[in-house]
Amino acid sequence: MNSTIKSLHKIFNKQANYSYAVWRKLLSNTTNLPHQPTRFPLTDLTEDELMMRDTVARLAKEQIAPYVREMEAAGNLKKSVIDMLFNNGLMSVTVDPKYGGAGASFMTSILSIEEISKVDPGVAGLPDNSLINPLIEIFGTKEQKEKYLPQLCTNMCSSFALSEPSSGSDAFAMKTTAKQDGGDFIINGSKMWISNAKLAGIFLVFANANPSAGYKGITCFIVERDTPGFIINKSERTLGLNCSSSCALNFDNVRVPSSINLKGR
Ligand SMILES: Cc1cc2nc3c(=O)[nH]c(=O)nc-3n(C[C@H](O)[C@H](O)[C@H](O)COP(=O)(O)OP(=O)(O)OC[C@H]3O[C@@H](n4cnc5c(N)ncnc54)[C@H](O)[C@@H]3O)c2cc1C
Repeated sequence: MNSTIKSLHKIFNKQANYSYAVWRKLLSNTTNLPHQPTRFPLTDLTEDELMMRDTVARLAKEQIAPYVREMEAAGNLKKSVIDMLFNNGLMSVTVDPKYGGAGASFMTSILSIEEISKVDPGVAGLPDNSLINPLIEIFGTKEQKEKYLPQLCTNMCSSFALSEPSSGSDAFAMKTTAKQDGGDFIINGSKMWISNAKLAGIFLVFANANPSAGYKGITCFIVERDTPGFIINKSERTLGLNCSSSCALNFDNVRVPSSINLKGR
């Protein structure tokens, strides 16, 4: 691997007079989680990553492919498929082993998603609870990590709730608000196209807690499924992704404690 970096350094150093140390830094993958070591070029897979990629490809072929049409028609994920993801550690690829995860690299997670996407993109939104595990691990408080990560590694799915009817690419235009009320926040608004909402036990919900500060007021809450005033609507019909529910969510004076605000660091 060092020889690859040295060759790149040789080629590119003609154009920019960067030192070998700077190239190492530029080429390192900055997306790793705190407990993972720095890694080098993305095309240079480790033995563990190659092994995981091949294992996931086989699992997808054997345990997802036979049910793709059935799940698409039903608009649901089969329980055996969800169980297979949990039982093989695919729902907790990057999570620190102290919470029950595999502690593998973010790249391993991406490779798993890639292999599953080749077979069923509707299932591919699930591994590592899509964005939720890394977000809780990076930004969650100690209490949030201890409460949610072990469940997310063993039996709980989750959803990422950012988009709204009038705020997609322009996420900062969101209208959902979170008004502070003593030690609580009260969330009002709606979300749209939220994947896996039918299954999720928790939702990472983005809301503006200080609209006068514009986008700087946006923050994120962990909202549990059965919170009063939180409504999960029926799934939209999609093509090729129909097994992963895509639901609208409504928040009607949803009261949440400020301790579930995701602001660990
Ligand atoms: C199947 C499915 C699942 C989804 N799951 C989730 C989920 O789990 N959680 C979640 O939060 N959201 C989810 N979404 C929402 C998704 O993130 C949004 O659809 C996406 O952000 C785009 O927003 P939009 O649909 O409003 O399109 P728009 O933002 O209206 O964009 C429409 C088109 O205009 C282009 N465009 C927009 N702005 C500009 C610009 N400034 N300059 C040039 N071109 C521009 C876009 O590239 C696009 O082609 C899901 C959507 C789908 C379809």
